[in-house]
Amino acid sequence: MKIICIGMNYREHVRELHHEEPKNPVFFCKPDTALLRNNDSFYIPDFTQELHYETELVVKINRLVKAIDRKFASRCYDEIAVGIDFTARDVQRECIAKGLPWEIAKAFDKSAPLPNVFAPLSNFPDINHIHFRLDINGKTCQEGCTSDMIFDVDTLIAYISRFMTLKIGDLIFTGTPVGVGPVHPGDHLEAYLEDQKMLDFEVR
Ligand code: MG
Repeated sequence: MKIICIGMNYREHVRELHHEEPKNPVFFCKPDTALLRNNDSFYIPDFTQELHYETELVVKINRLVKAIDRKFASRCYDEIAVGIDFTARDVQRECIAKGLPWEIAKAFDKSAPLPNVFAPLSNFPDINHIHFRLDINGKTCQEGCTSDMIFDVDTLIAYISRFMTLKIGDLIFTGTPVGVGPVHPGDHLEAYLEDQKMLDFEVR
């Protein structure tokens, strides 16, 4: 199982990070050791002073996918969730400045909290119009809607599968909307897909 994460897929977020809008999807991978399940507590690693949440719609692949045409891509998933792409922002900034890969900022252990159970896509009328959000200590701090994506889910799957075969159970983090920010020890995080709570855990 692999985790593929899309970067810079929401205009306002691209602006907040002062990046240029990408012409093609940008993606990177996290290993399976990045998963954090069961609403286990997340421990801020010691190599960062600026640990950011990124709240993202996550799509689970349900078949083998290689170089699929966009118009068939919707057949490749039927379950979704909200996950967090935890990012060591200070470390990422340093990697970008030096032209180095992002793995140490993005792919570290437990950097991808996900619910144990995904939601059936059939619960939602349109993959391209799904709201999700993150509350920290009871206050909403990030909200997004998939209608604001630069590249929609089907475009992402078509693009990724040109380079990398997708397998059953692979997970795609589809990018974060505007409003990323830091977490601190003691924070209580709750993530929602529409009104359904998907994550509920503590930062330590
Ligand atoms: Mg992200």
